[in-house]
Amino acid sequence: MARLVAYTVMMLALLGLLLSLGAYVFEFAGIYSPPQNRPPLLFFGIFIVWFPTIFLMNKLTEDFKQKDMWKAALRGCPPWMRKSMWAVVGVVSALAYLPVVLKVQRPYPDVFVLFPGCFYAASFCITYSVINAWKYDSTRRCLNGHAISPLAKFCDECGAPAAPGVKNVGVRSN
Ligand SMILES: [Zn+2]
Repeated sequence: MARLVAYTVMMLALLGLLLSLGAYVFEFAGIYSPPQNRPPLLFFGIFIVWFPTIFLMNKLTEDFKQKDMWKAALRGCPPWMRKSMWAVVGVVSALAYLPVVLKVQRPYPDVFVLFPGCFYAASFCITYSVINAWKYDSTRRCLNGHAISPLAKFCDECGAPAAPGVKNVGVRSN
């Protein structure tokens, strides 16, 4: 059931992300300009994907500490996906705040069109992680081959460090 919800939300999030980016690019290129009082459909869409996303994320991270929440939530994603997600969030935030910081007029098209894109991107990554985390969780082992918990750096049983692997989340000790 959770997987079915995750798949559905992932597809909707992907659609939302593409529409957000598409709307921005089209407006930027001047190909399409929406009516001034358009209903912010992409904003309403956030609620549709975000509630189930939060629910799934809570389930996925319930065994973890608050500070590890995002690492835990995104542990089923490949590293490039996690990096891309933070890059999207970072770039959109920067684009949104830059005019404020530089005290210039808001550029057209409004960067706020892209804000839903952040939610859709996060939602997509989290649901992807929900679907794939089990692979990662079941394959983590210490150097001596004991199964260890998803974010553990050291084995509870023998104290050996986690075996390096492509699925490692990359928790650093510093
Ligand atoms: Zn061990």
